[in-house]
Amino acid sequence: MTADHREKTVVVIGAGIAGIATAIRLAVKGLNVSVYEANSYPGGKLTEFVSSGFRFDAGPSLFTMPQYVDELFRLAGKQPSDYFRYKKLDTVCRYFYEDGTRLTAWADPEKLADEIALNTRDTRESVTRFLKKSREIYDITHHIFLEKSLHRLGSYLNRQTLQSVLRFGQIDAFRTMNQANASHFHDSKTRRFFNRYATYNGSNPYQAPATLNIIPHLEQHFGAYFPEGGMHAITSALVRLAEELGVEFHYQSRVDEILYNHGEVKGVRVNEAMIPASSVISNMDVWFTYRKLLKGIQLPERILNQERSSSALIFYWGIKGTFKELDLHNIFFSEDYEKEFSAIWKKKSIDIDPTIYLNISSKFREEDAPKGSENWFVMINVPANEGQDWDSLIAEARMNIIKKLSRMLKRDIAPLIAVEEILDPRQIESRTSSYQGSLYGTSSNGRFAAFLRHPNFIRAIKGLYFAGGSVHPGGGIPLALLSAKIIDDNF
Ligand code: FAD
Repeated sequence: MTADHREKTVVVIGAGIAGIATAIRLAVKGLNVSVYEANSYPGGKLTEFVSSGFRFDAGPSLFTMPQYVDELFRLAGKQPSDYFRYKKLDTVCRYFYEDGTRLTAWADPEKLADEIALNTRDTRESVTRFLKKSREIYDITHHIFLEKSLHRLGSYLNRQTLQSVLRFGQIDAFRTMNQANASHFHDSKTRRFFNRYATYNGSNPYQAPATLNIIPHLEQHFGAYFPEGGMHAITSALVRLAEELGVEFHYQSRVDEILYNHGEVKGVRVNEAMIPASSVISNMDVWFTYRKLLKGIQLPERILNQERSSSALIFYWGIKGTFKELDLHNIFFSEDYEKEFSAIWKKKSIDIDPTIYLNISSKFREEDAPKGSENWFVMINVPANEGQDWDSLIAEARMNIIKKLSRMLKRDIAPLIAVEEILDPRQIESRTSSYQGSLYGTSSNGRFAAFLRHPNFIRAIKGLYFAGGSVHPGGGIPLALLSAKIIDDNF
């Protein structure tokens, strides 16, 4: 730690996962870091709540790439398992189709290929070939698209990156995910299985480039995990680490303005108090950062006006009863996947037959639900909030979801719902300041989406950085954590 570093003070706006991770990284570097969070709790989307004896993770439920969390403890010279433990899943997800087909997504790629061959008209070889291609896309793209700033020349000036640039023709950017998947697989069940990965960053498989077929590799190769204390344990463990490193958290402290002068950041204003800082990291959605916190700056409209990722409608149900056929992650597919996505992306509405994601953490953590019960997190993909009549859409979706689950599980669900809470795009927007309630910032539907996402810095204001799902490299816990890493490279 240099004397110069100790004098420097950093303000982080927002205690989302990327804000906390950036705070940890800069505290490790010896900087004085304070986090100002509008809510009374940390974690942003990655939070939890308890209702009548049922505990629910409110937002993310699928944990991948745990190495990016572990890395933060190691940087601080700590043993990750002293703070945070997780278990690798053998069964990543169970898939249910209307014709009665049930498919288990095994973590082991060989077993997955056998399972698909057994339950669809596709062969194990086609699955193996597909996963090989998925790996190839990862190998070519991850150094550039995920781990570095796309907006600094230095990122491109090394052998590894230049070699990747030369192989860009192989990343399948010129057809959609669905087109690529239709060329690999005959059976609509297999296509739906692989098309669904577009939703991992809130995109549409009928528009997004096939480059996103990198995602199955991330899940198959690196695995899916369950944190011992539930997803919220990620937030609590990182906040504990940050506090041990001297990071100060100020809750119920909404930042109202970022102060700058002569192209250099000076601090922030919280209520009427001016907080001086030599660097400011905004973990607030970049759309709101520009529109609410930065006065007198030219807005990068082209970037801010990009299409947002999809949002979600979630029913948190305390279910009186248990279901042996269900696992931690379960998917109930719609029959007409293209129609479902057309409803979301073209009509900005919800199809009458939505694909349902059902997460039950009490399958792994019994204390999350009373004995003989289960905590159901029932989510469907919905459009970003553009002022739709959500109350009617929610009422209709609720009815359709109950009908579909009852039909596919052959058990009447409605009388089993003992507890109900609902989260919709309006609340996601207001609780975390995420523009239009999008889950993952901007969508990845366009071929150039990765290049159009806002950088982690701004040339007009020295010392101001951007972390989180709305900026490079994108949304989801692993990428939000990578945004912190990219900012760290600037210090
Ligand atoms: P956010 O979580 O958006 O937090 C930003 C924080 O900044 C908030 O706490 C907010 O209050 C605060 N803030 C904003 N403005 C101000 C201000 N002016 N002053 C002070 N504080 C401010 N990802 C996965 O990896 N796996 C999943 O399974 C998954 N599922 C999801 C399901 C749902 C329902 C949702 C909502 C998201 C899901 N995601 C998932 C996405 C993931 O949650 C996000 O990408 C990630 O948590 C974003 O983190 P972030 O750091 O960008 O900040």
